[in-house]
Amino acid sequence: MVVILWVASLGHLAVGMLVGRAHGTLVTRRQTVLATAAFAGLALLPDIDVIGLALGGPDDGPAGHRGVTHSLLFAAVLAVGGGLWARRLGMRPWPTAFLSFVAVASHGLLDAFSYDSRGPYLLWPLSDLRVASPWRPIPGAPTGLEFISAQGFEVAAIELIYFSPLILFALLWRRPGRSDELTLRGALVRSTVIGACVLGCLVTADLVVRDTRLVAYLESRSLLRLAVEDRGHIRLTPWPGHREVGGVGRAGARKQVVESASDVPMMRQ
Ligand SMILES: [Zn+2]
Repeated sequence: MVVILWVASLGHLAVGMLVGRAHGTLVTRRQTVLATAAFAGLALLPDIDVIGLALGGPDDGPAGHRGVTHSLLFAAVLAVGGGLWARRLGMRPWPTAFLSFVAVASHGLLDAFSYDSRGPYLLWPLSDLRVASPWRPIPGAPTGLEFISAQGFEVAAIELIYFSPLILFALLWRRPGRSDELTLRGALVRSTVIGACVLGCLVTADLVVRDTRLVAYLESRSLLRLAVEDRGHIRLTPWPGHREVGGVGRAGARKQVVESASDVPMMRQ
């Protein structure tokens, strides 16, 4: 069940795979595949907090969804584990630790770009601010068991369309070299390239792909359903460029947090 829930986050999966490829190849093909899968797992790991929700846990504050596990501190702790794992395998620990941090931290950063502006606790415990970008091009996947729904699959379909370039890039990226030869500088350069690719993918999705009839249809169905459901922290606002597509309202709405009267990047819960 947990695996199915995580599949909703194709963007995180794509970024994790890319970071795994950036880490380079290990001795055998099997080791390389396992290492890439491990980094993809790291990028998905912060959503482990949905297990608490599924078990009836609280969904507010740092203990809720997009709480502690989405913080940079959580990423730093896992980076230490990544570094120790590398040293155990005879590799330089710092490049692996850095890329482990990038994989985990990328999750919270991407979440800050999702429609559902209930931003993550990126800076916890230094700050209890939920961080959300004023520009949010990614549909927010339903959490917990809500993913097993038509809306969940519609959001997954949109994510697949949006992030397919990154997934293809991760699969086709030519061998970046052996992991035990990777330097911290090399890890930094490759992470920067990945960041630029992700940003380019999001801009293209928002400016071009989002206006296609298929995405508009999927968006309008999932967002309109959310409008009917009272989820408490969501309201819908008109999106400039609103139009009708196939008899269904254009994805002409963006969910915004009503906990804050103003739509600003940093919002306090
Ligand atoms: Zn998340």
